[in-house]
Amino acid sequence: RVKEQGKNSFQFYTPDMNEMVSKKMKLEIGLRKGLERGEFHVFYQPQVDIISGNVIGLEALIRWQHPEWGVISPAEFIPLAEETGLIIPIGEWVLYEACRQSKTWQNEGYPPLRMAVNISSRQFQQSNLLEVISKTLKETGLDPQYLELELTESIIQDSKYAISTMQQLKTMGIHLSIDDFGTGYSSLSYLKLFPIDTLKIDRSFTSNIFVDSKDAALVHTIINMAHNLDLKVIAEGVESQEQLHFLEQRQCNQAQGYLFSRPISTDEMSVFLKEHYSRIVNA
Ligand code: C2E
Ligand code: MG
Ligand code: MG
Ligand code: MG
Repeated sequence: RVKEQGKNSFQFYTPDMNEMVSKKMKLEIGLRKGLERGEFHVFYQPQVDIISGNVIGLEALIRWQHPEWGVISPAEFIPLAEETGLIIPIGEWVLYEACRQSKTWQNEGYPPLRMAVNISSRQFQQSNLLEVISKTLKETGLDPQYLELELTESIIQDSKYAISTMQQLKTMGIHLSIDDFGTGYSSLSYLKLFPIDTLKIDRSFTSNIFVDSKDAALVHTIINMAHNLDLKVIAEGVESQEQLHFLEQRQCNQAQGYLFSRPISTDEMSVFLKEHYSRIVNA
């Protein structure tokens, strides 16, 4: 194809593109190997009830520690994993690991928390999704009421399939939330069709509450809309006391963000939870 474009075609295929393609290939090979070599880890970030201040859930967030490249952000490799289909085995691994760890914490005597797991749209379209989830719950012994799946608006492509899949997940007793709410380009009408429990206000709105009055208005509107639809609402990316106060005054139910904790390892989370519960007991 390059040949047909004539004299200036070399401009089409630049060294930059060469570099990009080979970087992508390296990353893809790295992902495959990473899964075999156990380079992936799950970190956890607390979700807090705004009124009581209690931790009520955790979000599982994947981390990739490559032996040479160091830590690679999911923002960089999840899109590629989606593109290549590697998100299927990676996603199954995260789901299993998060459910297993949640059950372990319960067995160790920690009060049960809901574990939120991100499900990419390709994973959601996977025909054996329900089997994978029920098998995982069975094998790990986690009660379905303690599992929450974070879905994005992009799953709405096939709404018939999405609705029936979500209904079956609800029947199993699993919680469903819409992640990054407000950043997709979908119509709002899906909110009345989809059996969801929670809206997660995207970080881009939360972090701009005091930067742009329009973002503040959007946050307020999303909270009211969620409540009018009988949904819970959680704000992502809460970093300051002022933001938390804003959300509290507008009756936002939950918050998640660096103000409470960054995503942390299993061991760090055990320590965090111990400290958190001893504070509650002594309060
Ligand atoms: P997300 O699901 O919306 O997760 C929230 C992201 O915001 C996380 O980034 C988290 O570390 C970050 N975050 C939380 N609080 C704050 C804050 O106060 N300030 C700032 N600046 N950032 C905050 P992370 O862990 O890098 O993940 C990025 C995205 O990658 C996730 O966005 C999610 O879409 C995807 N992802 C992560 N783990 C998984 C996974 O296991 N499966 C799938 N399918 N996607 C995942
Ligand atoms: Mg999420
Ligand atoms: Mg999110
Ligand atoms: Mg987000």
